[in-house]
Amino acid sequence: MSERAQYSAEEQQRIREQWIAGTAPQCPYCSVTMNSRGIGGGSFGLGYARRRVWLLCPRCRRSAIFDAARATRN
Ligand SMILES: [Zn+2]
Repeated sequence: MSERAQYSAEEQQRIREQWIAGTAPQCPYCSVTMNSRGIGGGSFGLGYARRRVWLLCPRCRRSAIFDAARATRN
């Protein structure tokens, strides 16, 4: 499989929820733990700094990027 498939919006949302909940997100297709990588952003400890996280499935190579902010709770 060499296609660059993407997660649907719904799948990305599920992955994001797992990340926010503090659990290691798993690929909805492969059920393997995804690799996470921080992107840019300031230093740790700056509450207002926007961090983004890049989650990559090591098996199917799908990836998802989103804001890693955990502070908001509505
Ligand atoms: Zn996968």
